[in-house]
Amino acid sequence: MADLYYLTIEEAAGLLAKREISSRELTQAVIERIAAVEPRVRAYLAMTTERALAQADSADARIAAGERGRLLGVPVAIKDLLTTKGIATTCGSKMLQNFVPPYDATVVSRLFDAGAVMVGKTNMDEFAMGSSTENSAYHVTHNPWDLTRVPGGSSGGSAAAVAAGEAIYSLGSDTGGSIRQPAALCGVVGMKPTYGRVSRYGLVAFASSLDQVGPFTRTVRDMATVLNAICGHDASDSTSAPLDVPDFTADLEKGVKGLRIGVPKEYMPATLDAGVRARVDEALAALEAQGAIVDRDVALPSTEAALAVYYIIAPSEASANLARYDGVKYGFSYQQGEGMWDNMEKTRGCGFGAEVKRRIMIGTYALSSGYYDAYYLKAQKVRTVIRREFDAAFEKYDALVAPVTPTTAFKIGEKTADPFEMYLNDVFTLPVNIAGLPGISVPAGFVDGLPVGLQVIGKPFDEAMVLRVARGYEQTAAWGAKRPPL
Ligand code: GLN
Repeated sequence: MADLYYLTIEEAAGLLAKREISSRELTQAVIERIAAVEPRVRAYLAMTTERALAQADSADARIAAGERGRLLGVPVAIKDLLTTKGIATTCGSKMLQNFVPPYDATVVSRLFDAGAVMVGKTNMDEFAMGSSTENSAYHVTHNPWDLTRVPGGSSGGSAAAVAAGEAIYSLGSDTGGSIRQPAALCGVVGMKPTYGRVSRYGLVAFASSLDQVGPFTRTVRDMATVLNAICGHDASDSTSAPLDVPDFTADLEKGVKGLRIGVPKEYMPATLDAGVRARVDEALAALEAQGAIVDRDVALPSTEAALAVYYIIAPSEASANLARYDGVKYGFSYQQGEGMWDNMEKTRGCGFGAEVKRRIMIGTYALSSGYYDAYYLKAQKVRTVIRREFDAAFEKYDALVAPVTPTTAFKIGEKTADPFEMYLNDVFTLPVNIAGLPGISVPAGFVDGLPVGLQVIGKPFDEAMVLRVARGYEQTAAWGAKRPPL
């Protein structure tokens, strides 16, 4: 039998259902894999081994009693931005170093109900601000394909864990690309569902109008399975959409024949890395060979404004959301200062890292009276324009296809000196958050041994079409089945 820790969810569920393996064996295999590679990869902030084995045993008991389920007994890793009852949730920040939440995030409890086995909490950029996981207050995560390179971010730990065989699947969050970008750089499947499709209850807030939870998996079929478990209305999140959730596995194998696929010109600029361009061109040719009708001349002219819009709106919302970390309510508290204000100032001064402080300053500036209209209000107006351009495109196309990132994984330390260089990594992903659309990254080959992702973007709440196109492509070239040389 192949290495258990590299099974897909589908394979694992099949073996568990036939009782050819137990959840305890599978969980042990993942735990041993973690022990073997984690010193080099460092995908995790904390392991939850004892609890995982207890969950595995209870999954085995459920299976023995005749219960079956795709996620029953299958090991998962959870981004440390999602609250886990009784288990520290740090958000990659010193501010929450000792914070133990009293409740599970809705997505976490939905997975637990389905019988998931949580092996640990994964590393991330502090409060999800970053594109390389280098902004973690704890340590850097290494790309399993080349340990001298970043895994992407902010959900870099979740992506690296799946790529390295340290979990069968994982959860991350995507505010401007934080699932799709690390998925692309680590060679796994990563999806941001439509804004409102997945509950944000228990997802520690970065930018509330953009944040969305989503999975990392090894195949598109597995992606559909996890989405089936986590999507759907939640009364605890007022922005969660009160819509029925289709079975995302239903249309998966329908193929791309006759589908109209648009490629926005703005996503294939002259500056795009030649290797990435070549892989995307090959993927488009593969979709055409399967009968898709590809139009490479779609215009989304406001794309170039998206980065600016994002870096007004996201920091503005972040500055409001992060006001709660004042050393009074919970989390880190500096208490040696001279009175309340001094303590508060020092709590925030010592508790937050440089990038978080930068975002808070940009946000409070953009929201301040006198600048509000010029920055925040203007950004909201351009946001509407961007959204309308997508709406117009979706009148003609079933899905849009684009690169996920302008380059493959960069070196650790390469972009830390220049925040703007770092921000540019998300030019192809953040417009999708601005418009609230579903988007997936699916492995599309390699450049010099480093993975490239293909992005498929869909209409609001049309995850089924995104998955169908991604699956149609995946069938032509199963790049996701390749494993890093760890
Ligand atoms: N890299 C982007 C940022 O730093 C996106 C992060 C995210 O999606 N959480 O804001």
